[in-house]
Amino acid sequence: MRAVVFEEFGKEARVQDVADPSPSRQGVVVRVEATGLCRSDWHGWMGHDPDIALPHVPGHELAGVVEAVGKDVANRRPGDRVTVPFVVACGRCSACASGAQQVCERQTQPGFTHWGSFAEYVALEQADVNLVPIPDGMSFGTAAGLGCRFATAFRAVVARGRVAPGEWVAVHGCGGVGLSAVMIAVACGARVVAVDVSPDALRLARMFGAVECVDASAYPEGADEAVRELTSGGAQLSLDALGSPVTCAASVRSLRRQGRHVQVGLLPSAAGDPVVPMARVIGLELELLGSHGMAAHAYPPMMDMVRSGSLRPDLLVTSTIGLDAAPAALAAMGAVPGAGVTVIEPTR
Ligand SMILES: [Zn+2]
Ligand SMILES: [Zn+2]
Repeated sequence: MRAVVFEEFGKEARVQDVADPSPSRQGVVVRVEATGLCRSDWHGWMGHDPDIALPHVPGHELAGVVEAVGKDVANRRPGDRVTVPFVVACGRCSACASGAQQVCERQTQPGFTHWGSFAEYVALEQADVNLVPIPDGMSFGTAAGLGCRFATAFRAVVARGRVAPGEWVAVHGCGGVGLSAVMIAVACGARVVAVDVSPDALRLARMFGAVECVDASAYPEGADEAVRELTSGGAQLSLDALGSPVTCAASVRSLRRQGRHVQVGLLPSAAGDPVVPMARVIGLELELLGSHGMAAHAYPPMMDMVRSGSLRPDLLVTSTIGLDAAPAALAAMGAVPGAGVTVIEPTR
């Protein structure tokens, strides 16, 4: 099969012919119809993820068709249209037993713990636990984002953030996951303040219903003061959807009393550990929450909102490219503050 391979961290990846994967006993091989380009892929390529062994194929937010099924898989068939949470759970550890598959103790992640979906085919473990059927009529390009950015934002805003109608929600960083969070918070009746350095990202955030937009390039130390002013004292819920020491601290400082901060963007140690204003956490009784993907069994309420049209993940996809354009797009992910989401179609 054709796949995007990198042999050194930070050195340009190339499209190569490599061996086709085969399914493990409880796994499947999926023919990749679409796979999103995510900032986590860039972190992996840069060497920020200790799970990655070289040479490596990135890619973790995918949708496609089941091609081959392991002999112990009960409920999946070749031809099934599926997506998969990027945290592929074992289904047997204590976290999985409690329903928290998104923090599974023995999780695998395509594109991190093994080769991912910037390829014509990808192997996925534990298919009965993890695969999510794609509704009829949903495109693969839209469904790919449900494996990572959109589901991650949904859990961060709804389950971890406990958003309520009328609340102010600040979203720091309006890339794929941040824009998804804007759309989801608006659909839940919140008033959203979007924060980003890119005018194009803020234009999209406004299109998705943000009532206030803050150009973060004017605030190199963090845009929290602007958020507190616009929200008459601070947001009830704030997300760091970028993942940087500056946006993490700014998100915490954006909150009013008893507000909730949700950390969504990854904070690789290469950028340094964030300095969290803990005195403020005590004095204002703030809550600090992490959010990490979403378990397959938690998808139905989100799928219902997509089906009814109150959520439009299709609008997040702003460009579609083939596999040959993927290496350059991956490299550009770190430098250019893009707007919207790029989807790769390996069979294009
Ligand atoms: Zn992702
Ligand atoms: Zn587990």
